[in-house]
Amino acid sequence: MDGPMAPARNLRIDGDRLWDSLMEMAKIGPGVAGGNNRQTLTDADGEGRALFQRWCEAAGMTMGVDRIGNMFARREGTEEGPAVYLGSHLDTQPTGGKYDGVLGVLGGLEVIRTLNDLGVKTRRPIVVTNWTNEEGTRFAPAMLASGVFAGVHTQDWCEDRTDAEGKRFGDELDRIGWRGDEEVGARRDDIHSFLELHIEQGPILEAEGRDIGVVTHGQGLSWTQVTVTGKDSHTGSTPMPMRRDAGLGMARILQAVNEIALSHAPHAVGAAGHIDVHPNSRNVIPGRVVFTVDFRSPDLSVIEDMEARLRTEGQRIADEMGLGIAFEKVGGFDPVAFDEGCVAAVRGAAERLGYSHMDIISGAGHDACWINRVGPTAMIMCPCVDGLSHNEAEEISKDWATAGTDVLLHAALERAEVVA
Ligand SMILES: [Zn+2]
Repeated sequence: MDGPMAPARNLRIDGDRLWDSLMEMAKIGPGVAGGNNRQTLTDADGEGRALFQRWCEAAGMTMGVDRIGNMFARREGTEEGPAVYLGSHLDTQPTGGKYDGVLGVLGGLEVIRTLNDLGVKTRRPIVVTNWTNEEGTRFAPAMLASGVFAGVHTQDWCEDRTDAEGKRFGDELDRIGWRGDEEVGARRDDIHSFLELHIEQGPILEAEGRDIGVVTHGQGLSWTQVTVTGKDSHTGSTPMPMRRDAGLGMARILQAVNEIALSHAPHAVGAAGHIDVHPNSRNVIPGRVVFTVDFRSPDLSVIEDMEARLRTEGQRIADEMGLGIAFEKVGGFDPVAFDEGCVAAVRGAAERLGYSHMDIISGAGHDACWINRVGPTAMIMCPCVDGLSHNEAEEISKDWATAGTDVLLHAALERAEVVA
């Protein structure tokens, strides 16, 4: 026997209906290779939003939209008071898949449809959300509108973001007609819980043969830009002992970066993804190299340790080689520890439903990482084929989508409390 608040094990979502909705949404903003190009605040985004709204209203929900286009479809509870929020994002990368983000929004809708079918009432209202511009490709940064909602960015700053053609976020929002009248973040206190179902976008769950990832943490990130200065000189005529080779300095520092990350195995990672070599000519020893070291870990103290050791090791290597070196922190965000109660609801739901599951750390950023600042939050992940995402070939199975949404249903019901 489950606890009094635990919904019956046989309560399941309709996997076929969920899948049909995913396929229907994927027809809007098709990509060139079977995926989607439904970038934020394009005409296709507007169409996708309209379809989502029609579906929500057909399911008896009322739609609220805030001044930066975040959508909130509400199913009433039997009592007033804070609601359980479910959702993710409908925008995609320019060469994106059909499930990244979309599964979390339409999974939320499927939860409501299931409750309607079975006549299940909840004490707390349930709200299904679509956060504007999660992807951040058209308007940087990613998770922009959930960030404004959570108070990380201001609304003005968000509206002034421009795309590659110089078009403003605020103007494009007006153009597609999705500026609502709700003050952004006005509902912060209305969030009893937020649950985001998302595809893993990595290979771990599939490799481990698990249906469900119970996301306990979001990885933190630190970017340190390193400038190593030597002397440009001829690659042929400069004797080896007289060289001040900034390229070699960088190579030795990157070796240290690798060792530093490995010293915090298995969760810490480190690499330089961006490298500029000057003058970048075949027959000139590099006189200056600028590169950005990307360290990530779910543990803030580990990130701080890696940053500090990069500076000490980098300085030591530069001194040894007669090179100049400068460090500048150019970006980052702190790791996220999701709410224990929400995480337990997800784990308990997977357990009760008999789905194989494991705890997992999100390597990518998600709207949930910002919303966790203003309300108890957790994430559910389902596997994706070969871990592939941000690619039109992104694929999941109907069974995985169904399992993830079943867990979303049961976790939501635990948080919203079924009325007998
Ligand atoms: Zn996403």
